[in-house]
Amino acid sequence: MARSKQPLPTTVTTASGVAAAPTGDIAQLVEDLDAMLTRLRLGAIREQLDGLLEEAARRQLNLREALAWLCAAEVASKEQRRLAMAMTIAHFPFVRTLEGFEFEAQPSIDPAKIRDLATCRWVANGDNVVLLGPPGVGKTHLEVALGREAVSRGYTVQFTTAMELLGSLVKGQQQGNLEMRLAQYSKPKLLIVDELGYLPLEPQAGHLFFQLISRRYEQGSVLISSNRPVEEWDEVFGDQVVASAILDRLLHHSHVVTIRGDSYRLREKRRSGLFRPQTGGSSSSGIGGAAPPTPAKED
Ligand code: ADP
Ligand code: MG
Repeated sequence: MARSKQPLPTTVTTASGVAAAPTGDIAQLVEDLDAMLTRLRLGAIREQLDGLLEEAARRQLNLREALAWLCAAEVASKEQRRLAMAMTIAHFPFVRTLEGFEFEAQPSIDPAKIRDLATCRWVANGDNVVLLGPPGVGKTHLEVALGREAVSRGYTVQFTTAMELLGSLVKGQQQGNLEMRLAQYSKPKLLIVDELGYLPLEPQAGHLFFQLISRRYEQGSVLISSNRPVEEWDEVFGDQVVASAILDRLLHHSHVVTIRGDSYRLREKRRSGLFRPQTGGSSSSGIGGAAPPTPAKED
């Protein structure tokens, strides 16, 4: 870029009508550009300045267009960082997306229903989603994928497991800081509770969970998954009254997705030949023979 030694006007009138007086000549200002961009926290413009200016020149943008082009780069970069930070805060156990979900592998799921949930209208409304189904059918995958959709739409999301959540609330009760923990789990707009029903709960867990669900009721959404049908939740919580009080609130404004079918993990293993029929030779693929398959170690 051509350097100009032309001095700047001594005063510039700002939008608010207050006169600001830039100091130094243009060459000095160009020298200070990096520092000024840093001070203004315009890191993306600073990092990509040469490339952005070259591209702006190549496209023959006028000054206003070039400024808009630079600002757009900064906004995009800040949005990307916000997303990355929100994804970290959400504490997802792994990265899974809806694009990576094979609907053909799980015909009991209606893809239109999941795509509708991916719009996150239910999160905006404070509704709940209950995902039910046996192990390996994609419940956690869908929770993470829907959670990521919610994050990308600007909602605060926290992923936890039923064990971690209820363990924390039980500890809170013992240590006298239950209130703080209830408040913490009430904060995110979407709380994802994975794997309810896999492991036995402490006797007071149901009551504590009820307190949390009541607090979040019609305020924030809960996305919960369980390997046990809701009819068995009184066994899960060890208390019929508490279980029906939880379900009453959870299911009031809710979408229930019941997944029936085979474990995707085992399907993958069958495909890769890690599953063998118990009696040899009846099936070339090892799938669908009369004898039950011998599982390789589950992960
Ligand atoms: P669940 O929570 O129901 O036990 P997961 O969601 O953990 O099952 O699924 C087990 C593994 O299989 C995960 O790695 C998941 O990404 C994958 N998986 C499950 N179902 C599908 C599917 N329909 N398409 C693609 N991957 C799947
Ligand atoms: Mg799971």
